[in-house]
Amino acid sequence: MDQRESFMSVVESPMNGVNLPGAREQGEQTIGRPLLDRKVSMRCRNVDVFYGDKQAIHDVSLDIGKHEVLAMIGPSGCGKSTFLRCLNRMNDTIDICRVEGSLQLDDEDIQDPGMDVELLRARVGMVFQKPNPFPKSIYENIAYGPRIHGLTRDKSELDEIVENALTRAGLWNEVKDRLDDVGTGLSGGQQQRLCIARAIAINPEVILMDEPCSALDPIATATVEELIDELRQRYTIVIVTHSMQQAARVSQRTAYFHMGRLVEVDRTDRIFTNPGHELTEAYITGRFG
Ligand code: ADP
Ligand code: MG
Repeated sequence: MDQRESFMSVVESPMNGVNLPGAREQGEQTIGRPLLDRKVSMRCRNVDVFYGDKQAIHDVSLDIGKHEVLAMIGPSGCGKSTFLRCLNRMNDTIDICRVEGSLQLDDEDIQDPGMDVELLRARVGMVFQKPNPFPKSIYENIAYGPRIHGLTRDKSELDEIVENALTRAGLWNEVKDRLDDVGTGLSGGQQQRLCIARAIAINPEVILMDEPCSALDPIATATVEELIDELRQRYTIVIVTHSMQQAARVSQRTAYFHMGRLVEVDRTDRIFTNPGHELTEAYITGRFG
């Protein structure tokens, strides 16, 4: 078989959990354990997602380690955003979407009907592709969450939270003299850091980012990538990216998805130099995607 034939036979064969055809070795890394020195923040087991009758995610099991940056890559439509939205129940907002399997945050079942979803989304914050500040002042963008979550007693405490969040998002010096200006008036990169600050202000454990730099220029992208690296000290970060360079720059582990399945997850340097699966190799060498 030439390379293309062997690749097509892989694509056309039914894929089944960790025993995907085309795996070079049946290594333990196919299940996705975090690096040995990390505790598990989120544990996902046998996750299936359906949109109506159509299954978009098939039997994904994956552990996300505390204080790691985990990148999720794969061809457009392979289910990265769908899987990411499972992690803070954002799929609940899509009527036809149904999630099955087990998803835990610090050993708590996040699918539990008794789970406080608003609180969950504070603990597992989200940053989207297109920066989406509220059409309010910079200050209010940050203050809104802590206020509705009852995190402050008075104005000076709230001021402190706002300053802290903006500082940690690397934005304070750029905006401290214009906190009353409207957030949507900032540059794209600043708006995205404002959205990150907004997530930080309500004390998340995990921050989900869905292609957070795809609307940014290269300089703003570099600023956000540096920020992601700093945030790892305090937060767990899961980032979907269509840029393999970005995954290589910011993440410690990378998960490769293909047609709704997790093909492999491994240390980022290994995924990009010595992937365990033909499908991953085809993607990283640009043969599709
Ligand atoms: P990715 O983020 O990797 O590009 P998505 O998670 O957006 O992939 O999509 C995975 C699959 O689920 C695709 O086939 C897509 O068409 C389908 N899908 C995504 N969102 C919806 C939706 N709201 N309704 C129906 N199908 C959807
Ligand atoms: Mg997507």
